Amino acid sequence: MKKGKFLIKATLISSQSDDIKTKLSKLLNLFARFIKAEDTSLYLVNENQDQALPFNLGSGANSGPTITREWIETFKNLANGATVCVDLDKEVQGPAHHATIIKTNNRIMGLLLFRMPEGRISKKNRKAIRCFGTICANLINQERSGASHRANIGAKVVNSVDRYVFIFDQAGKIIFANTHLRMKTGYGLEDLVNRNVDDFLKNISSASCDNHYESLIGVPETNLSLSLVGTDSEMINLTGQLARCNLENKECYLAIFSEVESLSKELARFTRLFRNNPVIGTINTLPDHRFINVNSAFLKTTGYQIGELIGKSWMELGLIANYEQVKTVIHEIESKGLIENVEVQLRSKDGTISEVLLCAEVVYCFGERLLLVVMIDITSQRGIQNLYYEQTRRLNSIIEGTRLGTWEWNIQTGETKFNERWAAMLGYTIAELEPVSIETWLLLVHPEDIINAQVLLQQHFNGELEFYDVEVRAKAKDGSWVWIHDRGKVIEYDKNGHPLMMYGTHSDITKKKDFEFRINELSIRDPLTNIYNRRYVYERLEQDLKRFARHRSVFALAIMDIDRFKDINDRHGHLAGDQIIKEFTELIQDNLREYDILGRYGGEEFVVIMYDSDKAEAALIIERILEKVRNRTFSYHDAIIRFTFSAGVCDSSEFDVEAITNERLIGLADKRLYYAKQLGRDRIVT
Ligand code: GH3
Ligand code: MG
Ligand code: MG
Repeated sequence: MKKGKFLIKATLISSQSDDIKTKLSKLLNLFARFIKAEDTSLYLVNENQDQALPFNLGSGANSGPTITREWIETFKNLANGATVCVDLDKEVQGPAHHATIIKTNNRIMGLLLFRMPEGRISKKNRKAIRCFGTICANLINQERSGASHRANIGAKVVNSVDRYVFIFDQAGKIIFANTHLRMKTGYGLEDLVNRNVDDFLKNISSASCDNHYESLIGVPETNLSLSLVGTDSEMINLTGQLARCNLENKECYLAIFSEVESLSKELARFTRLFRNNPVIGTINTLPDHRFINVNSAFLKTTGYQIGELIGKSWMELGLIANYEQVKTVIHEIESKGLIENVEVQLRSKDGTISEVLLCAEVVYCFGERLLLVVMIDITSQRGIQNLYYEQTRRLNSIIEGTRLGTWEWNIQTGETKFNERWAAMLGYTIAELEPVSIETWLLLVHPEDIINAQVLLQQHFNGELEFYDVEVRAKAKDGSWVWIHDRGKVIEYDKNGHPLMMYGTHSDITKKKDFEFRINELSIRDPLTNIYNRRYVYERLEQDLKRFARHRSVFALAIMDIDRFKDINDRHGHLAGDQIIKEFTELIQDNLREYDILGRYGGEEFVVIMYDSDKAEAALIIERILEKVRNRTFSYHDAIIRFTFSAGVCDSSEFDVEAITNERLIGLADKRLYYAKQLGRDRIVT
């Protein structure tokens, strides 16, 4: 081993996490190998500095001599690292022992004895001896101060408990008694320490040998009963346990006892609590689960008399309806000692089932292993829960069945939840629309419908409308417009009375809307020509007159009548007449502006409303049509048909705003038509 290696190795050993014994053994081994010593033995000196006990190295290395008090005194003045030769055992031949001291702060911790068969101690070895001494002393010092610190904490704990704690050695000599014991018995420490424990204890046959106390140390759960005699000769009945302990390397007995009276008080308190507790409770034996005690809540729930239960087991009485289900859980108690919140069906005497939440724990009572079971009846909660599930299921079925889209809108945050059907109506899935909010909806609504919807919503918020109810178009994924019937109601308001949560539904009313549109079209159109009918023209005129009254917007009215139509019918037949009427309306329509209104006024009479035009401008347009009719030949099968028409035209500016009516307007155009006929037909009169 090289120079300096000893210090490094020794430091490494001392810094490892081994216990002190291992560390010292390793150090000693290292030392012996390093300086090639024989017969190495370490002695540890006690706190009183009057005894040195050999440190156990095992394997015969410590068959050392006895170190007396005088010897220790002799070594006291030895410097660190210094050695003296000692003649320990005259009978052993060979070189003498060297002795060196291990000390810190002038307190002697131990002695190291060794023999050097190869002669004197070199300089290098001296360094190692000094180094060994310092490291050993530090280690022992650390250990001792740690131990005394631990002993201090231990004493504090022991003194603070309301139990009777005392320690006595194998000969029965009392070493310690805690504050509680001293206060209760009236003894001082000096009355107890060094006295024999049997002087104070009754019920234990006096015998101060090891075996006597040893025999009292049973399995941990076995309680020992004894009586302690106080200063006033009063007997205090105790129950508790004895355990072996090691105090300053001495085998001792630790006694921890409680007063029997306080235990029985505790038992009485527990019994009261158990008996009248609204929580269902039972106490059973283990491992066969027989009833020892049950409380009134259990009797009430199960309908049994206490006599019918005691001595019987849960299984025997069939108390657990779903026994197979909970069997494994019950076995869990055996291994874990505890189960919590297991749902169990409790079957009462008359067969009714209660749903309970069961907790069980293994408890020890006077050495017996018992099972304490408590249960909470959750039947009614379960009922409410089932009702809730049932209602939710029904509600969902209705929503599903009616194919309603649903929405839940937090008006204040904009957060909105939609169901899948809501999105499916527009050809989407919710996932495709994520992240969804009220914006998602507003972006889909037709711009022409959104204002009306907002107005209705505001009216609902203001309380003017009990429900929000609107029909709007929304853009589907394929670009088409879907008619949605959007209905809802504010259900929750915040503490300031502002609307908070609104719930509603969407239904697809596109088909209904199409149907309505078709019905409406049928009611306003002429079936033969598909242009507007007379009733619709009247309605439009009505509105136009109102607009005229407000804005003085001039419009013209023309009535056209085919000349000598009877002759066409007579010559070519009624069907030919119909064909002419159809083709004639198409021709007129093609020559009008898109926003002008063409209606069938009578058989072969037509009416035209022309906006933003006076009668002169209207007459020009009609004239253009008449010119086209004059130059056109209409055909029906083989027949070639030609005709003309006459027209009367007037406009709104020809009347006073107050005096203008439908009848007057039509009447004037009609009069002019009649006049055109009189003048020889095929002309327009304005
Ligand atoms: P004018 O107007 O030039 O005085 O002579 P007209 O022969 O056209 O006489 P009037 O307008 O009084 O008669 C209209 C005729 O048109 C009467 C009727 O037989 C015929 N008519 C009316 N409605 C229809 C129809 O829907 N189809 C056919 N084919 N004929 C109709
Ligand atoms: Mg006519
Ligand atoms: Mg006619």
